[in-house]
Amino acid sequence: INLESFKGHIEFKNVWFYYENENWILKDVSFEVKPSETVAFVGSTGSGKSTILGLIVRNYDIQKGQILIDGIDIKHITRSSLRRQIGQMLQDVFLFSGSIYENINLKDENITLEDAKKASEYVGADTFINELEGQYDYKVLERGNNFSSGQRQLISFARAVAYKPSLMILDEATANIDSETENLIQESLKKMMNISTMLIVAHRLSTIQHSDKIIVMQKGEIKEMGNHQQL
Ligand code: ATP
Ligand code: MG
Repeated sequence: INLESFKGHIEFKNVWFYYENENWILKDVSFEVKPSETVAFVGSTGSGKSTILGLIVRNYDIQKGQILIDGIDIKHITRSSLRRQIGQMLQDVFLFSGSIYENINLKDENITLEDAKKASEYVGADTFINELEGQYDYKVLERGNNFSSGQRQLISFARAVAYKPSLMILDEATANIDSETENLIQESLKKMMNISTMLIVAHRLSTIQHSDKIIVMQKGEIKEMGNHQQL
């Protein structure tokens, strides 16, 4: 199935998953996210948070259970279709050697320079981009090494927004981010929460507070689920 413009409803039904040696990494994980809701995943290191996000774009296929998007089992949806429709802002922000514009539009000509600028303004990345020589033509080095981790995350936000996905997945950067960039990231996150379904591996208290639902992971299982008041 080639999925075009879905609503962003997502459901995990009794999902079991391992990477190797039948050593279960996710054990009977079930949850539902309604269109435009935001879910924050929290829990200790190695509990399976990033794994959940990776499974949604089919970086790996699960062994048992079902992952449904708008009621369709994602094993029937092509990887390329999923990756086009889902805005990804993962831990290792994927920046490559090329201009800022190319890093935002991924060389897809349907996303014009004007679109890239609008998306950058929306997420607050335009301020630092406008200070660069050549602005959107400024060259990003391999893996974005000439930018701070916060700036890299903002560029990945701009890319996600330019594609206007109905579903976004985000692994929040924890690395040292200066307070100004930190504020920009928090502000743009709040905006993005209003336009898309979001699944976030959250480290910031403010992100957790603004989420509709919090899922606490422990050793591959859901330990608790609820909103900020309940937990
Ligand atoms: P953190 O908070 O440190 O980012 P996490 O909750 O995101 O942790 P995951 O990255 O999902 O945890 O990892 C869950 C488990 O799966 C860990 O035991 C990890 O070692 C293992 N794991 C993660 N990625 C792989 C992989 N590509 N191959 C094999 N095992 C993996
Ligand atoms: Mg992780």
